[in-house]
Amino acid sequence: MSVSRPRPRVAIIAHDGKKADLVAFATYNRERLRTCDLLATSTTGSLLQEKVGLDVQRVRSGPLGGDAQVAARVVEGEVDAVIFIVDPLGKHPHDPDIQTLLRICNVHDVPLATNVSTADVLMGSEVLWEKASRRAAARQQRRDPDLSAALLGADGTGSD
Ligand code: PGA
Repeated sequence: MSVSRPRPRVAIIAHDGKKADLVAFATYNRERLRTCDLLATSTTGSLLQEKVGLDVQRVRSGPLGGDAQVAARVVEGEVDAVIFIVDPLGKHPHDPDIQTLLRICNVHDVPLATNVSTADVLMGSEVLWEKASRRAAARQQRRDPDLSAALLGADGTGSD
């Protein structure tokens, strides 16, 4: 059974001081981002939709709990990578939520880019797609062991 490779699920967040950099990053990587399922905090997601033309599922704005929502999705195994363009020179009222998200990515070994250069490297890496395939198979394992085996067969074997 041949199964097409799963789309990576990528969460994207940018602090206000980095929104312009975020739009430049997303414009440069637009075609790759189109091959992913995107999740973003509210304002970041609006910019990706309106300025870059990407389809994005949005959660709440970061200061209203959006970062915590993304962290919960990471815990649930629903996110394959997080691109969080942080402003290291800014003060953020939701810093506890930010630290939670960064920590949770490390707890669950989810790829995490916190600046544009690393985000560019991540989007250009085949490893993102390979890891996404493995996570999709793990998710599927809990629901359907037969389909899981098929997905694992499509992972890195070139059989898809
Ligand atoms: P925003 O939230 O995308 O709604 O601006 C991002 C953040 O500040 O964490």
